[in-house]
Amino acid sequence: MFETRVIKVDPFNPSNEVIAEAAEVLRRGGLVAFPTETVYGLGALAYLRESVLRIFRVKKRPLDNPLIVHISRLSALSLVTRDVPEEALIIAEKLWPGPVTLVLWKSDSIPSEVTAGLPKVAVRMPAHRVALMLIDSVDAPVAAPSANLSGRPSPTSADHVIKDLYGSIELIIDAGETLHGVESTIIDLTVKPPLLLRPGALSVEELERVLGVEIAIPPFARGLVEASKALAPGMKHRHYAPRADMVLVESRSYDDLTKIVSVVRDIALKSLHKGVSVSILCSDETYNYYTDLGVVVKSLGSRSNLFQIAKNLFKTMRELDEAGVSFIIAEGFEERGLGLTIMNRLRKASGYNIITADQ
Ligand code: AMP
Ligand code: MG
Repeated sequence: MFETRVIKVDPFNPSNEVIAEAAEVLRRGGLVAFPTETVYGLGALAYLRESVLRIFRVKKRPLDNPLIVHISRLSALSLVTRDVPEEALIIAEKLWPGPVTLVLWKSDSIPSEVTAGLPKVAVRMPAHRVALMLIDSVDAPVAAPSANLSGRPSPTSADHVIKDLYGSIELIIDAGETLHGVESTIIDLTVKPPLLLRPGALSVEELERVLGVEIAIPPFARGLVEASKALAPGMKHRHYAPRADMVLVESRSYDDLTKIVSVVRDIALKSLHKGVSVSILCSDETYNYYTDLGVVVKSLGSRSNLFQIAKNLFKTMRELDEAGVSFIIAEGFEERGLGLTIMNRLRKASGYNIITADQ
């Protein structure tokens, strides 16, 4: 066991002393969990190979799953990458700091441990005062995946980090709940057209608007199939997942929710008969159709507010784990805007256990 310090800070005006202390931990090779606008990250100095390897160990993360490198100013982009295309500069200028990660050719300064041996590196500038001040303070890029145990839902609060990593890292900076609650959007800009590797907090539509070109969306980015290791490393197997088994009920259209409700109810009743401890993950629009079942029902929010649904997703999965349910029946969402991100996470969390309500 390890002594983990947890320090609370004001997300908008963190104390300089706390930032200085965290920076010192990183400089000495330690690991610091810190807030970003997406989820909490587990940071190490990107130049310190041993510290980077420790991230993999404490998260139980497979070594072939590369880390995102975080920077706090644009000038650092040329330190970590090379042959930066025009599109990257457009995104960096218009959307950074923000929840979009660019995959670019890596420079020699980034150790191969960070990129899992790949010639490309994922980079982003997070839009969070604490993260930016910390990176600025160490004056070096910070490699940071999400601060959860590998495979678990990403941490959207310091409590989640404490649950997963307390006793195995030096410091957790607690700045309350994160804004988006889902990870960044990742696009590969070394190929044309740009390729979506992971949908995230920034919608593909918004990225396309800024870039003025279409972004290719492969089936693995929709969460329909597992990614090939070469294209999207580390995106295989059940991911973002609660402990409970999960089934996802999808439909071609979500204009009329009656079919979805009827399939979800059907599965719930059958599972109840088998004595399974069932829960339903639904929306405000359907919540009342399940309350008579006597199972745990959680709404992620209204379908008209996908930002809220995305924000509540991981948090609610962790709540269901805490409630001790063993089976989750989740409703699908329309794959538009953030709906693409939500469906990617739900499909992976279910381990691709998907039922369509259309027959
Ligand atoms: P996490 O920060 O835990 O959400 O994980 C970062 C994700 O970024 C990984 O799962 C990878 O799939 C992706 N990623 C990081 N670096 C690269 C890279 N060089 N090429 C492709 N994908 C990457
Ligand atoms: Mg992660």
